[in-house]
Amino acid sequence: MDTKLRIEPVVINGKTLETPIMVSGPCSAETEEQVIKTGHMIADMGIPIFRAGIWKPRTRPGNFEGLGAVALPWLEKLKKETDLLIASEVANTYHIKEALNHGVDILWIGARTTANPFAVQELADYLSGKDIPVFVKNPINPDIDLWIGALERFNKAGLNKLVAIHRGFSFYGPSNYRNKPQWGIPIELKRRFPELPVITDPSHICGRRDLLQGVCQKALDLNFDGLFIESHIDPENALSDKEQQVTPAELKKMLDSLVWRKSQVNGLEILKDLEDYRTEIDRLDDKIIHTIETRMKVVEKIGEYKLQNGITILQSDRWADILKGRTELGKKLGLSEEFVTIILKAIHQESINKQTKIMNRE
Ligand code: PEP
Ligand code: MN
Repeated sequence: MDTKLRIEPVVINGKTLETPIMVSGPCSAETEEQVIKTGHMIADMGIPIFRAGIWKPRTRPGNFEGLGAVALPWLEKLKKETDLLIASEVANTYHIKEALNHGVDILWIGARTTANPFAVQELADYLSGKDIPVFVKNPINPDIDLWIGALERFNKAGLNKLVAIHRGFSFYGPSNYRNKPQWGIPIELKRRFPELPVITDPSHICGRRDLLQGVCQKALDLNFDGLFIESHIDPENALSDKEQQVTPAELKKMLDSLVWRKSQVNGLEILKDLEDYRTEIDRLDDKIIHTIETRMKVVEKIGEYKLQNGITILQSDRWADILKGRTELGKKLGLSEEFVTIILKAIHQESINKQTKIMNRE
């Protein structure tokens, strides 16, 4: 089921948020000094949006759960002193009420909240009729529909300034990442909703600062629309997520070292070669589909033959031969066995479906 999202550019106080959408700030607001100092450094770097958690969803009780509403005036003060837009996480209607009362410009929905449709619906209902951008993190589990569902709930409530944040997915077992990126999921989200900006949160994907640069570069290479990164004036003493935070100075160094490739190939810049290659790919894909269609016609003829002569559909020896022969050919041509096997299995399954239909005709 693919519905459309009505997405508008994020315009705040008459200013349109340009891509790349850059957001930075500490995991949590901890002290007035930390918020103001970090914020000024972020603003000096030209990053337009400051993030800070006020209420922190902690996996287990006893960890730092954020200071709550007492920290909101610090964000208001930072907003007055700089041009920064302020973003903060909300997970219930009380959070929204407090955040809006203190001039928070952008609300973000945390991964644990996105995973809960009841909570998302309550937030969407509460926000109905309000004009505020909502950034929606992916749910903790790798479920693209749950992510889309949350975006739809806000959209149905009339919120059109939506941005998706990819922060990786929970898993059990060893990995270098805190949350596995599973890039295929945000790529699919972009494919289905090309007008929806999708930005990357490398901090919560990595969980460690030494991995940040690689993930940021990958996000840029994949043409995502911005970065949402934690930074703190004193990461070692941060009250939450200290291993993944970097100082604003380190952040600047890292951002400067990234290669920002040209992503939007527009009018003047259209690369002739690229266009030619794409035409070639279109032609080859066309040929592949037509060849498969021709193959299916033969499959149907075989189906008829099997029906007339009382032969079973699946003949294991024949299938084993096909798999062996084709994967060997593939290997010779530089195609991995895994890849060729996946394609053959899909074709084979479709062939069985076609022949089953023929067998069940009478
Ligand atoms: C955060 O951004 O600090 C946060 C809690 O993130 P997530 O919801 O992605 O875990
Ligand atoms: Mn965090």
